[in-house]
Amino acid sequence: SGQQPALLETRGLTKEFRGFVAVSDVNLSVQPGTIHGLIGPNGAGKTTCFNLLTKFLQPTRGTIHYNGRNITRMAPADIARLGLIRSFQISAVFASQTVLENVRLALQRERGASFDFWRSEAPLRAYNERAMALLEDVGLAEYATATAGSLPYGRKRALEIATTLAMDPKMMLLDEPTAGMTHADVDHIVELVKRVAQGRTVLMVEHNLKVVEGLCDTITVLTRGRVLAEGPYAEVSRNPEVIAAYLGT
Ligand code: ADP
Repeated sequence: SGQQPALLETRGLTKEFRGFVAVSDVNLSVQPGTIHGLIGPNGAGKTTCFNLLTKFLQPTRGTIHYNGRNITRMAPADIARLGLIRSFQISAVFASQTVLENVRLALQRERGASFDFWRSEAPLRAYNERAMALLEDVGLAEYATATAGSLPYGRKRALEIATTLAMDPKMMLLDEPTAGMTHADVDHIVELVKRVAQGRTVLMVEHNLKVVEGLCDTITVLTRGRVLAEGPYAEVSRNPEVIAAYLGT
């Protein structure tokens, strides 16, 4: 259908927990340069899917290809090195460190292996400058010297995105970026995701359908571990089966 090869593609992805099938035969295709939403009622298997994609869980069956490579048996750190990065929940933020230090630490983790970088004159200053630029990108520059723990909730989620950007992602997995947020914070994160998605690919789990509608080029609906529908929001949201799944019938 004139589409490019998928950047991320699963075939028959399945995860069983002692006989309970949490993710069942999922074929997911994420096109490069798009924002792709993964939605579905509680217990549909969204989190398990994310855990399989980043290999926090091993699939029972099926394959995962990313950027033309079979990553099904690859270790999480190696997958991250290929640029497939998951944005972690707030618990990954070091609360007693400053906002700037949090981003700098993420940069140091990412660049730590680079010999040339360590040989350069002033690595700490360079890290701080790069960290500051990332904070500016996500609208957190004014909070640079605040401790991460003191940030308002919505800003913590922006910090999480900044630390993800520090890992130089080609594709970002965003786990409910607007969960628990006020309207103003939701608008801020929507703008932020739009901005950081430029030149990247995003797969996001999101409950707020207004956010999904505003951000996602394509959505995949999961129910009971299976793909119920996939396509543009306007099309999928009219699908009677999807409506029924959301109304719990
Ligand atoms: P979602 O993120 O869509 O709410 P999950 O992926 O968290 O759904 O869960 C899908 C199903 O798998 C749920 O029924 C959940 O109880 C079950 N499940 C998730 N993780 C485990 C586990 N480690 N052991 C057993 N069952 C699990």
